[in-house]
Amino acid sequence: MKSVILIAAPAAGKGTEAAYLKEQYNMPHISTGDMLREKAQEDSDLGRDINHKINNGIFVSDELIIEILKQRIMQEDCNNGYILDGFPRNVAQAEAYQDMLEELGKDLGVVIVLDIDKKLAASRIAGRISCPECKEVYNTSNEEMKPKEEGICDKCGAKLVKRADDNEETYMDRYNTYMEKTSPLIDFYEKQGVVYHVDGNNGREETHKQVVKILGE
Ligand code: AMP
Repeated sequence: MKSVILIAAPAAGKGTEAAYLKEQYNMPHISTGDMLREKAQEDSDLGRDINHKINNGIFVSDELIIEILKQRIMQEDCNNGYILDGFPRNVAQAEAYQDMLEELGKDLGVVIVLDIDKKLAASRIAGRISCPECKEVYNTSNEEMKPKEEGICDKCGAKLVKRADDNEETYMDRYNTYMEKTSPLIDFYEKQGVVYHVDGNNGREETHKQVVKILGE
């Protein structure tokens, strides 16, 4: 199976779609945000610095994220492809990633862009909660995405949490950063002929159907 890079504005549904893909194709879901949230809990200067950055929607350094990602994709479970959610975040990371792939003898795979209306994405932020254990994402403002039992993960029973950066103010910063730094990647990858656009405005089931049409059953 080819690796998949998901590109989309914050709260467009990357994490949700990545979880579907993980299940359907049995590929690891690599979320750099989740990896950083774990590191942010470490009682160290680095942990505190990461915590401050993610809570304020500021990118961590390219060097750090590239090193973390490299260690992850060198693991055996990534040998047959993986889903990247949250990386690359800018052109410098994409360039470093090309070199990394070449060094490791891996293929780029395909890039799926989830297109979503800004207002819709922002409206999802208020109700978004997630599982710190299995990373399942829920949304209390959407009937289709509510957990069966309030505050509890359907999948693993852990207590659901709200991300510190999921508030309106930080969202606007994250969105603007996405437009300025991340969206130029679409052009970068379009030049390589590996980009597919999917309409992310119609809910998670419909989005997933479209992605499967691209990747095959
Ligand atoms: P996410 O869960 O993808 O929304 O990421 C949450 C936060 O983690 C971002 O707002 C950044 O602060 C940080 N982060 C995640 N991925 C990256 C990356 N590839 N480069 C830099 N910072 C990142």
